[in-house]
Amino acid sequence: MLAADAAADRDSPALARSVRDGYAVRASDLPGQLEIIGQVRAGERFLGEVAAGQAVEIMTGAPIPSGADAVVMIEHTRREGGRVVIDRAAEASQFINPRGCEAAAHDVVLHAGKRLDYAGIALLAAIGRARVKVYRRPVVAIVATGDELVEIHEFPEEFQIRNSNAYSLAAQVARAGGSPELLPVARDSVEHTRETLARGLGADLLLVSGGVSAGKYDVVKEVLAEFGAEFYFDRVLIQPGQPLVFGRACGKYFFGLPGNPSSTMVTFEVFARAALELLAGQEEIALHLPLARLTCEFRHRIGLTRFLPARLSADGSEVTPVNWHGSGDIPALTRANAYLVADPDRAEYARGELIRILLK
Ligand code: AMP
Ligand code: MG
Repeated sequence: MLAADAAADRDSPALARSVRDGYAVRASDLPGQLEIIGQVRAGERFLGEVAAGQAVEIMTGAPIPSGADAVVMIEHTRREGGRVVIDRAAEASQFINPRGCEAAAHDVVLHAGKRLDYAGIALLAAIGRARVKVYRRPVVAIVATGDELVEIHEFPEEFQIRNSNAYSLAAQVARAGGSPELLPVARDSVEHTRETLARGLGADLLLVSGGVSAGKYDVVKEVLAEFGAEFYFDRVLIQPGQPLVFGRACGKYFFGLPGNPSSTMVTFEVFARAALELLAGQEEIALHLPLARLTCEFRHRIGLTRFLPARLSADGSEVTPVNWHGSGDIPALTRANAYLVADPDRAEYARGELIRILLK
């Protein structure tokens, strides 16, 4: 994430440039036969002047010779001895990128808060910025809670499960520009959870999975309250993920994400990702919920905004719910490439109707 504006160090392009291989000409000479007075390649400058009735052979990226005001692409020309024959008219300035048309010297071309994608990296290279100020990636502590959890290299007893949330969260955090730090699983006791969360609050952001529902052994909120936490909310009207908790303790933001795998994944994408991006210095955050057409009828219980695993067609226009067995069905989640987002006040959608989606 860029932390300071970056400006162009010169006009881009620095000279008017050809965007085609062909001939630099005077548009008013065409159609006609022109005398070829030389050539100019990318990386050179043509020192002469193109006079009436003359042309210069030119390559893509080469500067436009003075006197010329248009480029004719090679495919529309033929050579006869030292002359070029062009049967069609040309418009002034065709196939020419004028000086400074992309950016003028000193223009800010990348703003602070811009996440550097590959085009941004190319632009920094093009303006000669080998070193730039960036925000460091926020360190995000990840604490899974639950007495039923075993580590992934262990074989669980039938009443146990492997800790998958810590790993899905780590992948989501990394994708969002954070640096995940996996802490040991917190057992469902106040003492053990206290010890682990104290460590987690040393990071820039703390993500806790599980232990935030109403069960007898859901102790996360109690422990956070002991740390003097301010809770901004402890319930959201979505499913999965209703018991989501967000607050601040010891100067650090935290999320308590409900432990069912899809709850953890969805609440991260819908809420925690935005917080992480803001912490990382990103200026604009947005949750894109484009529309797609349902390939089948769809019903749900009203009251909550529902996020259900779905398959979006290759062109993004059609969406089909994935069969699943509830919030814990990780195999079904791997078959989805999006979530359907069903409105809380709308029980039925007919086949062919538009519905919002969230890309996975
Ligand atoms: P909780 O939010 O703690 O009530 O957890 C709800 C359910 O999510 C548990 O019963 C587990 O089946 C599942 N779960 C909790 N933590 C994890 C985890 N770290 N990895 C995978 N599943 C989990
Ligand atoms: Mg639990």
